[in-house]
Amino acid sequence: MTEADTLHEECGVFGVWAPGRDVARLTYFGLFALQHRGQESAGIAVGDGATVLVRKDLGLVSQVFSDADLSALPGHVAVGHVRYGTSGAKSWEAAQPHLSTIGEVIVALAHNGTLVNSDDLRRQLIELGIPFRSNTDSEVAAKLIGYFTEKTGHLREGIAAAMRRIEGGYAMALVRENALYAFRDPNGIRPLVLGKLEATEEASEGWVVASETCALDIVGATFVREITPGEIIRLSDDGIVTCRGVPQRMPANCIFEHVYFARPDSVKDGSSFYAMRYAMGRRLAHEAPVDADLVIGVPDSGMPPAEGFAHELGLPFGEGLIKNRYVARTFIQPTQELRSRGVRMKLNALPDNVAGKRIVMVDDSIVRGTTSMQIVRMLRDAGATEVHVRINSPEVTWPCFYGIDTDTQDQLISANMDLEGIREFIGADSLAFLSVEGLLNCVPMNGYCTACFTGEYPVEIPASFSSGKFCEGYTPRNLGLSRADIKMGIGGITAENN
Ligand code: SF4
Repeated sequence: MTEADTLHEECGVFGVWAPGRDVARLTYFGLFALQHRGQESAGIAVGDGATVLVRKDLGLVSQVFSDADLSALPGHVAVGHVRYGTSGAKSWEAAQPHLSTIGEVIVALAHNGTLVNSDDLRRQLIELGIPFRSNTDSEVAAKLIGYFTEKTGHLREGIAAAMRRIEGGYAMALVRENALYAFRDPNGIRPLVLGKLEATEEASEGWVVASETCALDIVGATFVREITPGEIIRLSDDGIVTCRGVPQRMPANCIFEHVYFARPDSVKDGSSFYAMRYAMGRRLAHEAPVDADLVIGVPDSGMPPAEGFAHELGLPFGEGLIKNRYVARTFIQPTQELRSRGVRMKLNALPDNVAGKRIVMVDDSIVRGTTSMQIVRMLRDAGATEVHVRINSPEVTWPCFYGIDTDTQDQLISANMDLEGIREFIGADSLAFLSVEGLLNCVPMNGYCTACFTGEYPVEIPASFSSGKFCEGYTPRNLGLSRADIKMGIGGITAENN
């Protein structure tokens, strides 16, 4: 899918504790591996034992940092962040890590996810006289942690007190001058893994946290485990210390990581995302077989399920669409004429392979439908005689509130049209989506959020946050704690009663 018609992961997070190593460069390469999770801005904050320095800016990792920038960030502990900014928040202030002070201590926070009650919390903090510089929920989290740390006199207590009040899907890494903290929401919606750097002749062992295992691989760290939902980990000269910030709740890993967001070479619960997507293609072939001459995938995430689909039906698999891998995000706006060519900025059909053939085109999802329509048209223009569209996820019918940039429900084609209507809109000869049951069969273990397919939300969405986001006639189901059970107040907290 193209940028304009796809779901976006909001961010990628990386952190490293590694005295004796160049932590700024390790973080740079960790972010490089996580670039697919956000291309709007990038930043690194480094602690050197005395203070924390940060460099961040709008742009890709390779655009934001020069060799000299990294050399100017000496230290032994660091966090990094890549961000996909929503349209209202493309400012430098919204770029992360978010730097703030707690008394004399400087901290920098890197956050992946969305806090659904950030408006309430921001209002309460402002009433307490705490100023804000941006409209991001990451600043709300940073200010809340600061507030409770000052109250309790202890940063880990401050994080735990903040976790008891923030709601949503989040994975965060926070650095101070001499320690790295990593923590994750109690449902485990957003991912965060822990890795280890083995000791060398020059450096003692080190620790890494990251949104995905591909970022461990690039810096030579070995996977240890996931940060458990609701856990806080502290990495410092005292080694690794772990404690529970909030009790674990019903597990609700974002299943869209498996469909599309995560890099195929990243691993979860012992399986690569490539293998899971391949299995989705096989399952889809069982659920919606079709006779054809060639199966193609929409690059990149449609390729593994297309291979699985072709394998299962004994059909040829090949390339039918070529992707310009260097498009990413550009700050140079295309001319109107180029913009009207839409998806061709990123994809082009390969007539050599598709002309005169009945094609099965496999893609990860359909959001608005305009991209699928353009690709189907492109394949027909290249000479395909039939185009059958197969999607390796169920229909995206509901908006996401946990860190993914989805439109309001009225912009989701599946919320507004039935299957036949969508088929007609995109101009396909046939169309089928993987079932929810089929998808769940292709991923390891249980415990997933499937809200964007089912409307069953693991964390209740405050009406103020979801107002205007649902279409008439759609009533979401709350699977989690009700708002009445969640600790909301900020004022009056002390070290004793926290
Ligand atoms: S609603 Fe969908 S995209 Fe959002 S966290 Fe749940 S599964 Fe992921």
